This record gives sequence, C-alpha cells and structure tokens, in this order.
Amino acid sequence: MKRTTGQDRSITRHWRPATQAVRGGTARSEWGETSEALFLNSGYSYDNAEAAAARFAGTETGMTYSRLQNPTVEMLEQRIALLDGAEAARCMASGMAAMTAALLCQLSQGDHIVAARTMFGSCRWLTDTLLPRFGVGVTIVDGPDTQAWADAVRPETRLFFFETPANPTLDIVDLAAVCGIARERGLLSVVDNAFATAALQRPIDFGADIVAYSATKMMDGQGRVLAGAVCGSEDFIENTLLPFTRNTGPTLSAFNAWVVLKGLETLELRVARQSENALAVATFLEGRVPGVLYPGLTSHPQHALAMRQMRLGGTVMAVRLDGGRAQAHGLLNALGLIDISNNLGDTRSLMTHPCSTTHSGLAADVREAMGIGEGMLRLHVGLEDPQDLIDDLDQALRAVGL
Ligand SMILES: *Cc1c(COP(=O)(O)O)cnc(C)c1O
Repeated sequence: MKRTTGQDRSITRHWRPATQAVRGGTARSEWGETSEALFLNSGYSYDNAEAAAARFAGTETGMTYSRLQNPTVEMLEQRIALLDGAEAARCMASGMAAMTAALLCQLSQGDHIVAARTMFGSCRWLTDTLLPRFGVGVTIVDGPDTQAWADAVRPETRLFFFETPANPTLDIVDLAAVCGIARERGLLSVVDNAFATAALQRPIDFGADIVAYSATKMMDGQGRVLAGAVCGSEDFIENTLLPFTRNTGPTLSAFNAWVVLKGLETLELRVARQSENALAVATFLEGRVPGVLYPGLTSHPQHALAMRQMRLGGTVMAVRLDGGRAQAHGLLNALGLIDISNNLGDTRSLMTHPCSTTHSGLAADVREAMGIGEGMLRLHVGLEDPQDLIDDLDQALRAVGL
C-alpha cells in the first residue's frame, strides 16, 4: 500500500534535528493548519469502486483503513524516522507492542536470539516466556560483556536484542562493538532506545539495524499517553514489520500519535534539561548513599563508553541503599515532592522500588543476576528545580537514618 502524506525526504533528512523535531513529517490538509491535524477516523471513502480496487492493489496512493494508515500517525512515523536517522518507522500502541512486533515479525520456530540480561521487566518476559513457547531459543548474556555476544552466536541465531542504558541498573552496551558483531555474522541488532531517545543517542549511527521505542516515556514526555515505535530500513519496515502489524493490529491511536507529535517538538529541550537536573541530583546523592549508578557520573563503571555513545547522562539513575526493602520503602514513603511511580519519562520526578514493582514479575534469581537488590531504588528526574528535588531527597534520607 503506497503512502500518501509526507514531505520530500531528500530535503527533510538534511534538516538539523531541531528543525526535524518541529517540522519533520508535517503534512497539511487543504485548510493549511499550522499545527498537525488530528484525524480521528477509522475508514476512508473512495470516489468510485475502481479507485477502491486500485488502492487495495497498491497501484494508486491513498489510505484504506486506520489499522493500516492514518495521516496523523504517518506524520509521527516520518518525524521519528528523521530524528533517528532511519529510512522508515512504524508506530505501535505501546512500547511493548513495538518490542513484541519487532521480534515476532521476523522470528520463526527453530530460530535463536541473543538478549541482554538487564532489560525492562516485560522485555525479559518476551525473551524468557513468550519466545520459548513458540520454539525460539534465547541465550541471555551480560550486556556490557561484548565478547559474550560473539560467543553466544549459533548457526540458527537471527538477532541481538538489548537496551542501553538498561532498566534499571543503567548498564551500558557498547553499541558499535555489539552491532558490529551482529553485522559481521549477518544478524540484525534490535535496540530498545527508550531511555536515551534520539536526542541523546542514535543507535543507527553506531550500526544498529532496528531501533524500538516506548514513546510513552521521554517522547511524549509529559505522562499522558502510551505509544511505541519501530525504526529500520525501508525494506524491513515495509516487507517484514508491516505484514505482521497490519494483520495483528497493535496500531497506535491517532490521538496518541498527535500527543507524541507535540511531545517531540520539545524532546531535545526536555531531555537536555532533565539530564542536567539528573546530574545535579546524582552528584548530591553520591555523597549520601552507599551507591549511585548514573551514566553521567565518572563513578559509573562505563562512564567513558556512555559518554562516547550518549550526548548526556539521561534522566534515570539507580540508588542503592544497604537497609533492604524496609529502608527503600521508608525513603519512598518519606518523599514529599517526588512521586512514588513506576513510570518514567515525565516532566515530574518519579521514584520506584524495582524489586517490588517493575521487576517483581521476574524470578528472584533472575532479578539478583540483573543486580536488582531489595535496597535499590530507581529515580527518574523531571523538569522541577533540581534544588527542590535535592531538598526532598535530603529530608527523606534523614527520615531513614541517612
Ligand atoms: C517503559 C519501557 C518499555 C515498555 O513501554 P510501554 O510503553 O510501557 O509499553 C520498554 N522498554 C523500556 C526500556 C521501557 O522503559
């Protein structure tokens, strides 16, 4: 099915990122609206029966049904592809819809994948529970151990799957090295880039083939909607991903797409300021708690690598306390400003106890191997004044004897 809206990519791909974030993908209707229009329609009509047949045959451009195409969603897809330096992108109803589609669209029984140990809880459910049920073999490796990726490859291996920085331990995977191994062996690399976003890190520039997003996080950036996206080559998106998604239907609603379009206009500003705020908060915490893992701190074991791949340290850090769950929950309960929330990517600062929330569905030994202890807290830093966040953390730490 040919696409109808959009700009001349030979021009827009040369725009600088700030211009792409505001204008990339915009397609105006006959009304000439400045802000992108919201097309809340499920179907499309045709001038005559022959036109309908031609659209289905793909010989005439045009839309047929909003599970397959929608002008608002398509504007967002083009904007995301531009920002990521990808040939094409498709949006999904959520980040997990994007991860699931990116994997299932290309895997079959008997295939094998290599995946990083530390990942978002539901991503580990895909690798540990869903894929094996359909006869796909999975080898889990320590993401930062580059050699482990090479050693895990088998004749039936199809792809590598990881996120960097990883949730919630902020492990960094060496994008150039690991994607390089994939290329060398004829495999695809699938990178979950939700934490950094294109504003801080473009995995495709380091050799990644497929970049998948939870756009719920920094891309919406204001805690409003669920959304996801998959970026890749035109061939992969059109011929491998699209047949899967158009028939299984993890479609993004036009309204949610519109919200994310508006979010992307300020993505770089928010990510940059929130990363600055996070560095200030991490620097404060480093002197007060037994451990802080934040890629922007020189104490992070992979700080140098993180700064080669990422423009700034990002918005998320892990805080380690020694007093187990009681102290971790005590600190959360003492917060007055920062919200207790398992979400992230909002303009608000949010803190959670991964062990009892985001990663509670994993077996205890899996969690332990990922480095998620009872004393770990994850903090996402928002757009508030960092001194107010530091003041809040200071009084909460004192409340639990730190
Ligand atoms: C939130 C998140 C997801 C899942 O995204 P949803 O939009 O919640 O479905 C996947 N990966 C990472 C790294 C995330 O932070």
